[in-house]
Amino acid sequence: MSAPVVEAAPGLDRLDLPIARAVPELTRGAATLRRLGVYTPRQALFHLPFRYDDFSDLRPLGDLVADEKQSARVRVTDVKVEAGFGRRPQRVIAHLADDTGSAEAIWFGRRFVERRLKAGDELVVSGKVAMRGWRPQFVSPDFSSAGTASIHTGRIVPVYPLVGGVTQRRVRELLARVLGRSLRDVQDPLHDDERAGLPGLAAALKAAHFPEDPDEVRPALDRLAHDELLALQLALAQARVARGGQRAPRIPVPSDEIGTLEAALPFALTNDQHLAIAEVTADLGGELPMRRLLQGDVGSGKTAVAAVALAAVCRAGWQGALMAPTEILARQHYLGLAPLLEALGVRGEFLSGSLSPARKRAIHDAIEAGEVEVVIGTHAVISRAVAFRRLGLAVVDEQHRFGVSQRAALQAKGQELEPHLLALTATPIPRTLALTFYGDLSISTIREMPPGRQPVRTEIRDRGALPRIQEFIAAEAAAGRQSFVVAPLVVESEAMAAASAEAEATRLGAALPQLRIGLVHGQQKPDLRDVTMARFAAAELDVLVATSVVEVGIDVPNASVMLIEDAERFGLAQLHQLRGRVGRGPHRSFCILLSNADDPVARRRLEVVKGSNDGFAIAEQDLELRGAGNLLGTRQSGLPPLRVASLFDPHHLELAERARELAQRLVTADPGLTRRPELIRLRDDFAPRDEEGDAA
Ligand code: ADP
Ligand code: MG
Repeated sequence: MSAPVVEAAPGLDRLDLPIARAVPELTRGAATLRRLGVYTPRQALFHLPFRYDDFSDLRPLGDLVADEKQSARVRVTDVKVEAGFGRRPQRVIAHLADDTGSAEAIWFGRRFVERRLKAGDELVVSGKVAMRGWRPQFVSPDFSSAGTASIHTGRIVPVYPLVGGVTQRRVRELLARVLGRSLRDVQDPLHDDERAGLPGLAAALKAAHFPEDPDEVRPALDRLAHDELLALQLALAQARVARGGQRAPRIPVPSDEIGTLEAALPFALTNDQHLAIAEVTADLGGELPMRRLLQGDVGSGKTAVAAVALAAVCRAGWQGALMAPTEILARQHYLGLAPLLEALGVRGEFLSGSLSPARKRAIHDAIEAGEVEVVIGTHAVISRAVAFRRLGLAVVDEQHRFGVSQRAALQAKGQELEPHLLALTATPIPRTLALTFYGDLSISTIREMPPGRQPVRTEIRDRGALPRIQEFIAAEAAAGRQSFVVAPLVVESEAMAAASAEAEATRLGAALPQLRIGLVHGQQKPDLRDVTMARFAAAELDVLVATSVVEVGIDVPNASVMLIEDAERFGLAQLHQLRGRVGRGPHRSFCILLSNADDPVARRRLEVVKGSNDGFAIAEQDLELRGAGNLLGTRQSGLPPLRVASLFDPHHLELAERARELAQRLVTADPGLTRRPELIRLRDDFAPRDEEGDAA
């Protein structure tokens, strides 16, 4: 196993070579890793697990329990293949035994498993166990020969984000190979006294991927969290320095003009909306760039505030941009704002990576010529090809889904003058956190809901209640109302999430053949997704089965039921957001949290959502409930796109404070960080990845 070690050219780090060159024995493997967006050893090192399965405890078969992930050392007594038919995939079934009992293992549509197994094999199997009658069944477990050291079984096993067609096992093997070669090239970007007493980088990376012992995980992830937070704070500190001399266009908005704009809206604004508009327009009139975060719960009407600001800026002769994190949301904003803008004589256009190249070019030209006044779109708005003539205001919706650098990229679209920035977020975070994570944004808050909202009744049910819930959904449909069904959260890969939603739609269709059921997930072409969404909005569908892509944005007042499966897997803020999709019209609405979790903390978290309709209160309680020590569980989603650090972890919040001070010190001494280039690279190691891959 000694392929020649490739030396990097002087000045070029071997960690930044293509993997096929740095680890020459991995040519096919390098291609697989590329599909995960991993091109270099450095990217491989930072392709971190999103959770771990603790398979270090080998259980006797007689002690296996249902619905938990477990490991056992077993003997294979028999292997057989059952043909698939109709919609049922082919299955491989192995019978397993040890001195305490027997079990089976089953794999669906994975014929190759059969070739790797035969009666008499001694294995360690690791995976989720279901009970079939009294017999435990491992469902699609991992396995390896007993007695050989394995990275897949009988230990703390990393679980990585995947893309379609790549298996967990394969990724784990490839990363282990790359790590084996590359860890020795890792140099710690931090001096000893800058590390807050945490392990060195190479040791932390090794333990974050393949911990030998559960106790290694926490310090390793803390170290990576520290670096991630430092990267964020360095970016914020540098942005502060760079902005020191920046000037923004002064765009005074007279109060009668505000009145005109507000009158063009189809409803009367709430007091909080008025107030937010007043704060925004006051900033627009100043010569320093506005940097304002508008916080407000789902459905509180943040869009209207942004719309008034955008219209005001355009009517004063400047351009505006609104960037949203997903295609669906961007389109809905466009459709919602277009009539308003038109009524005010402002020309808006929709821009996303999915448009035809010719169409994109035409819009780019019109933006450059200043003919398009408001651009509404996805990441495509910040692509290099977009050049504004006079950008005066940049709005970022669901700002927690974007990184600091993406926000900065949008603001950098101005000419000599920096555009004003308005960032919208429905993920309320306590003020002190906002200061730490968003640096120097000023904050406006909408607490009051538009009139006429009915509180959504929230219930927690276990899966056994599903037949009754389905009857309820059918009854609502018969009464002309509609339901959302959110499929279990699958973070491994978009493809698996899509498969889970598809299976859900099929099951529901079989149970309720009289209903019109639609399906949306992130693997579909945006066009198809939009058509389905539009049909649901037009009440041509009774039920919309979806992955959590429906979380943000979409507005269907006729929908009265939100059913969320495996609710305990979602962050509380996310559950609250999902619930916000219903109760938007005159109908009594329901949110049903389906969960079989009997872990008391999981239970209590769901009770928090049930007990409160206030997103701010929910966020605070979530913070309290999670606390530290939630390490081997799923990482939270929501909030800023941090990959390792967690806002729910008090220790990480301390690290964030330290990182903020360190960053300030480093950047004050050396604004360009030219003497510490490894710190600049640190920023890229943790750069957020695009969710929809439509950045072009
Ligand atoms: P969010 O803050 O979650 O982005 P939206 O801006 O999408 O909320 O607003 C939610 C819904 O409430 C939309 O249908 C919008 O038209 C409506 N809305 C906003 N403000 C008001 C208001 N003042 N009165 C009545 N309806 C409003
Ligand atoms: Mg919104």
